[in-house]
Amino acid sequence: MEPQQRSPLLEVKGNIELKRPLVKVASRLPLPGSRRKRGPDQMEDALEPEKKRTRGLGTTTKIATSRPRAPVLTTVPPTQGQTAAPKVPKKTGPRCSTAVATVLKNQKPGPAVPAQKPGTAAAPPMVGGKKPGKRPAWDLKGQLCDLNAELKCCRERTQMLAQENQQLRDQLREAQQQATALGAERRVLEEELVRVRTQAEQGQQELGNLSARVLELEERLGTQEGLVQELQKEQLGLQEERRGLAARLEEQERRLQGSEAALLGSQAEVASLQQKTAAQEALLAERDERLHGLEMERRRLHNQLQELKGNIRVFCRVRPVLPGESTPPPGFLLFPPGPGGPSDPPTRLSLSRSDERRGTLSGAPAPTTRHDFSFDRVFPPGSGQDEVFEEISMLVQSALDGYPVCIFAYGQTGSGKTFTMEGGPGGDTQMEGLIPRALRHLFSVAQELSGQGWTYSFVASYVEIYNETVRDLLATGTRKGQAGECEIRRAGPGSEELTVTNARYVPVSCEKEVEALLHLAHQNRAVARTAQNERSSRSHSVFQLQISGEHTGRGLQCGAPLSLVDLAGSERLDPGLALGPGERERLRETQAINSSLSTLGLVIMALSNKESHVPYRNSKLTYLLQNSLGGSAKMLMFVNISPLEENVSESLNSLRFASKVNQCVIGTAQANRK
Ligand code: ADP
Ligand code: MG
Repeated sequence: MEPQQRSPLLEVKGNIELKRPLVKVASRLPLPGSRRKRGPDQMEDALEPEKKRTRGLGTTTKIATSRPRAPVLTTVPPTQGQTAAPKVPKKTGPRCSTAVATVLKNQKPGPAVPAQKPGTAAAPPMVGGKKPGKRPAWDLKGQLCDLNAELKCCRERTQMLAQENQQLRDQLREAQQQATALGAERRVLEEELVRVRTQAEQGQQELGNLSARVLELEERLGTQEGLVQELQKEQLGLQEERRGLAARLEEQERRLQGSEAALLGSQAEVASLQQKTAAQEALLAERDERLHGLEMERRRLHNQLQELKGNIRVFCRVRPVLPGESTPPPGFLLFPPGPGGPSDPPTRLSLSRSDERRGTLSGAPAPTTRHDFSFDRVFPPGSGQDEVFEEISMLVQSALDGYPVCIFAYGQTGSGKTFTMEGGPGGDTQMEGLIPRALRHLFSVAQELSGQGWTYSFVASYVEIYNETVRDLLATGTRKGQAGECEIRRAGPGSEELTVTNARYVPVSCEKEVEALLHLAHQNRAVARTAQNERSSRSHSVFQLQISGEHTGRGLQCGAPLSLVDLAGSERLDPGLALGPGERERLRETQAINSSLSTLGLVIMALSNKESHVPYRNSKLTYLLQNSLGGSAKMLMFVNISPLEENVSESLNSLRFASKVNQCVIGTAQANRK
């Protein structure tokens, strides 16, 4: 039984215990068996207690006097085979509630009303304290008297039992009422129980939730504690760091104070230095001014020097005998020392030619004719490229200073013109010709002049003039190898500047770029060579570099073209040769070359004679170079000579042409014939 239910039920039990007479009385309820065994009077007494009570009145005294008949009552229970008290409650019937039944079942027989033993319950009243003895058979009256007394006694008992029955019924009703009340109470309690159970379940659930929450919180607490520990550790670290920083701050402050003091000192120093700087700046400006004046003076003097040397100069270069070529006889070419002796650079050259016709006629050994020539400089076969360039580097400087410069290489095919201009085969720097050297020199001098406020830019072009047609040697892609598309035109209406249409003008700023251009030109020439044999020697190659200088600080500008021209071979065709189709073409080429070369000579002569008309237009070459030839332009002509005796005729022709050029302009070169 659950504890909640205990108290009301105990209450019921208590109530029932208080009414113990009920049990006692119940035990005396007439049993079915006993009813059958009783006599008609007894039956009547049981059914109609009131009537019997009324009828029994007035007989009490009789009964009291009569002897009780103990055996009448004592015989009833044993015959039924029943134990009176414990089994009685079962007979209370289905109307009693289960609760009450249960209570009554558990109830012990109360000691207050012990079960009567048969024989004692219906003991007849004692008359005079003495048990009446057995009447003789004849004493019918006495027996009747006894029976009446017994009857009376029975009637009293019946009445008493009816009363008890009534009481029991009342009690039963009361108990039923109580049971009903208890049932209601029980339902209430059960409802309450359900509610309490629900609450308990909820509580249980809540408890579960709370336990989970507690676990979670404990876990969080653990984490938080760990965190707190970490933070504490961190705090300790930070405190340590703070102490360190405070110490450093202190140190820094000390140093700052020191620095401030130093700064004050420095500021005073700076003020004095600023004064000094201002003074120096003024001085520097003054010096800059002077330097500029000096630079301008240098340019003027340099130009004067170049002019004194001659605006047209002629250098003669004799190439060495190449492997496989026959060595010329001794004395064929001589380089007599200059007026200053052997230490002086040679300026003279003697070429001896044997006059075979005269020798044959006289029968004597052929006399030799010596031809002496004098130029601005003569380079014997052993002269290196660097030596040659050293002489012309001054001219390159003039180009930077704003004077047009034009350098030609003149001579027969194979005399070393290309070698002089571009250099020998392979990438040997010692073999580099004038073009790469001149450009390197220009780049480096331009770099130096940038310190004085000058900014230079260079734009290169490279064209070939063959049979009076111009072709771009820097052409790339599909235009490679095509000729005739290029024309020489003025850059604009009224402009002095000339430009070649459809030709590439490539800005260059370093040697690598120039190398690439020379390589490209070389390739383009090779392509053309497949179309016409040895065309390169039959055409003029013109490398032009447009130099532009600017001094922004002073608003000065200078610009001039530097032209490096590898002329076509100057050799003539032998007029005695049979003229096949190839030779005719060759003759046409040669005539074009001779025409352009003689035009060049004429132009130079007209310029030196200061003639009003200079025949620039007579050839594409002079037309293209007109800006590099007139006015303050500087011109240098290399006459390249083959050292071989077999080329003596062409060598003489070249030397004569060069001498004419030289003679014409400054009159220093004289062709001396002996
Ligand atoms: P050109 O251009 O006048 O026809 P090249 O410059 O092609 O003549 O020279 C012909 C050959 O002679 C080339 O093989 C060249 O390398 C060589 N040569 C010319 N001049 C020299 C020199 N000064 N030193 C060494 N070899 C030279
Ligand atoms: Mg050549």
